[in-house]
Amino acid sequence: MLGGCVALILFTGIGSAQGTKGIQHGVRPARFAIRNATIVEGNGTPAAGPYDILIEGNTIADVVALDPVALKAGRARRPAADAEIDATGKYVLPGLINLHGHVQDERGGIPQPLEYELKLWLASGITTVRDVGSTTRRTLELRAQSAAGTVAAPRLFVYAMFAGAGDAVESRGIRTAEEARARVRALKAMGVDGIKIVGIDRDLMQAMEEEAKQAGLPVAHHAGVEETNAWDDVKFGTRSIEHWYGVPDAALADGVQHFPASYNYNNEVDRFRWAGRLWREADPERLGRVLQAMVDANVAWDPTLVIYEASRDLLRAQNQPWFKEYLHPTLEEYFRPNPANHGSYFIGWSSTDEAYWKENYRIWMAALRDFERRGGLIGAGEDAGFIYQLYGFALIRELELQQEAGFDALRVIQHVTFNNARILGMEGKLGRVRAGHLADLIVVNGNPLEDLKVLYATGTETIRNGQAARTGGVEWTIKDGIPYHGPTLLREIKELVAAARAKRPG
Ligand SMILES: [Zn+2]
Repeated sequence: MLGGCVALILFTGIGSAQGTKGIQHGVRPARFAIRNATIVEGNGTPAAGPYDILIEGNTIADVVALDPVALKAGRARRPAADAEIDATGKYVLPGLINLHGHVQDERGGIPQPLEYELKLWLASGITTVRDVGSTTRRTLELRAQSAAGTVAAPRLFVYAMFAGAGDAVESRGIRTAEEARARVRALKAMGVDGIKIVGIDRDLMQAMEEEAKQAGLPVAHHAGVEETNAWDDVKFGTRSIEHWYGVPDAALADGVQHFPASYNYNNEVDRFRWAGRLWREADPERLGRVLQAMVDANVAWDPTLVIYEASRDLLRAQNQPWFKEYLHPTLEEYFRPNPANHGSYFIGWSSTDEAYWKENYRIWMAALRDFERRGGLIGAGEDAGFIYQLYGFALIRELELQQEAGFDALRVIQHVTFNNARILGMEGKLGRVRAGHLADLIVVNGNPLEDLKVLYATGTETIRNGQAARTGGVEWTIKDGIPYHGPTLLREIKELVAAARAKRPG
């Protein structure tokens, strides 16, 4: 799968893209400037501009404020550059970081070109992905290619699956603390950036977290309704809680949810239906203590609100407008409810289920707000490739849902840039528009503080001079100083999908 992507860096031919001079899609200029940009820096400070941003190699070399009076008089100090992008009327943000991605080259055992996902991410302004548990060797290889600039891809942080899916050979049979420690050491030797755990027993979790700390590997925990919950993350020093189950589960007054007697955790209908009734059982006073303990122990929260959206509004999730041209047939097939596959719980999903899930979201969102007010660190990730969520588009929808939770758009952008960089331990290099940082930036055709929908790769509708007009979209995604033209990426994805559909049997 990887071989197919390598050639793409050679693609050129849109040097004539509007408002640019000497810029080629997928080719890193030695030195170029983004001119007249309004900047949203990523650290929560308000938008400001105009600025010229100078990029040398893969680094932001300078961010120069332009004095409007001097500009008018033609005597403003402006950095010289061989090439430029004119960002007049546009917004420049740090490249978006997807804190919960999965590198996928197949769905349900059917191949899906890796290029499809990588281009969707780039077209959506994503310059960094934390891959939380995929096929580790393949992703490590892709990480190296991305770092070398030989593949059009976001930069990757590889959080290997501690046990289970992925590298099943190495991870089979972790039953003792010593085996858990050995697995951590083996992953460290492979060169991973961190470790992802899912529902795990307490003794193994303690051993692996101790060993991971020694190895300098951060741990991301997808807590299920299992033996361990957020209290264990607090005690053992987890870097981030993924999704949410472990948080309300740690605040249950009786220590266990009131399941019906017929409940079977391994039955997906039971699991998803009763998950929608978990937050309502959390005791508010206990929940406050859990959240405070997470803050005190520096356990971040990556809620992935988007990946449960089908549970609260199935029709919306199944009918997203970008499916028409951008949903790969392999993924389309994988999303189809089928009793033979996972995800069959959506057959017979009821209005009652959705009503409970909507309430579930309201309490969850309030807990997120409370967590941040107490000083907690919230990130943003998408978990796409599952449950009707499409790579890239899902991360932007996550931002919309975080806004719905009550966070200001400026704060939401901080979650997906600066906060995510902090959770990755990369706050000195990523997540801000700042001289000395890596040149990961996006040029957006519109103001995301006014409407986060302008970040969707396909843009959004607006009214201009009394007429409906298309606006927005990430026009340029600059990763490691390499500019990628959003509309060109989108066109390539559309063609790739059309060709795959034409080949589909029947
Ligand atoms: Zn995931």
